[in-house]
Amino acid sequence: MSFDSYGRRIEYLRLSVTDRCDLRCSYCMPEGFKGYEEPANWLTFDEIERVVGAFAHLGVQKIRLTGGEPLLRRNLPDLATRISALPGITDLSLSSNGTQLGKHAQALRAAGITRLNISLDTLDPARFAEITRRDALGDVLYGLSAAREEGFGPIKINMVVMAGVNDDEIDAMAAYCIGHRFVLRLIEAMPVGETGQKTAFLALGPIRDRLRQRFGLIDGVVPGAGPARYLVSPDGSYRIGFITPMSQHFCDTCNRLRLSVDGTLYLCLGQDDKVELRPLLRSGCSDEQLEQALLDGIRRKPFKHEFREQPGQIVRFMSFTGG
Ligand code: SAM
Ligand code: SF4
Repeated sequence: MSFDSYGRRIEYLRLSVTDRCDLRCSYCMPEGFKGYEEPANWLTFDEIERVVGAFAHLGVQKIRLTGGEPLLRRNLPDLATRISALPGITDLSLSSNGTQLGKHAQALRAAGITRLNISLDTLDPARFAEITRRDALGDVLYGLSAAREEGFGPIKINMVVMAGVNDDEIDAMAAYCIGHRFVLRLIEAMPVGETGQKTAFLALGPIRDRLRQRFGLIDGVVPGAGPARYLVSPDGSYRIGFITPMSQHFCDTCNRLRLSVDGTLYLCLGQDDKVELRPLLRSGCSDEQLEQALLDGIRRKPFKHEFREQPGQIVRFMSFTGG
């Protein structure tokens, strides 16, 4: 087991397998973005497997594949198969925008991915096209039904709540998720990159109180829930999560690190502290040297983000860091 200098056990790695994306969500990526990482700088599957194996040796158990849009990385199920076979890895999940999920759901399930988080901020096709700059709601809904057929569970829907953009749709989204047995999670927008900084966050506290009344929900304790705080139905058949990095941060229980596609290990979503692993990997480092670099990073993990105090601090986009 590995602990940072604040006594937090580090057991979770978010692994960005690409910085590319087929959508341009307004809070995440600029519309005309072209500054993608060169393929020569992407970690190869062998390199990723080696880093994840080293993390597993240090006590990391949970891996989430993310991006950018991870389903754009060719042969992703092969990587998933390799990661889920590593000793010590007990949980492999995927964050996706869902546009390509219909095609890949079966292979992903066969590769050992059990849990899915799918981004969906609206159920209205025109609004979807405005937020993501692509007319692809139908593809996402098809992907969700394919995922349900394959038996993924739970399937979580991540909705970034934006004032005046989609906050009028929260009840409809809750009803949709309850009806389809998806777990809705509402998220406060973070000032990550100029896109996130231009997005006004909406504090979820009042929304939480309203949903509690409207759907007759009670406070829930969900083991392994991470940063989400849940309201649950009295019979436990459904729940709604609230992720509040802005109005009520959860840094004191943060258990994760993020590895970007170019092999940069980010120690906090809201800070610039990092470890460059690619030069180390490509200079023929030993397993001991690699583990030492990871341990140094874990020890240097910052205590908290400063999204409120310094909202202009993080210039890299969420699609690069891996959300
Ligand atoms: N493309 C995949 C997706 O959309 O799920 C995975 C990567 S995306 C960067 C991961 C998550 O980050 C998504 O749920 C997205 O809504 C969230 N996200 C992106 N920018 C954000 C921001 N500025 N504030 C809060 N969440 C953000
Ligand atoms: Fe792409 Fe996900 Fe960012 Fe949207 S949130 S632009 S789907 S990486």
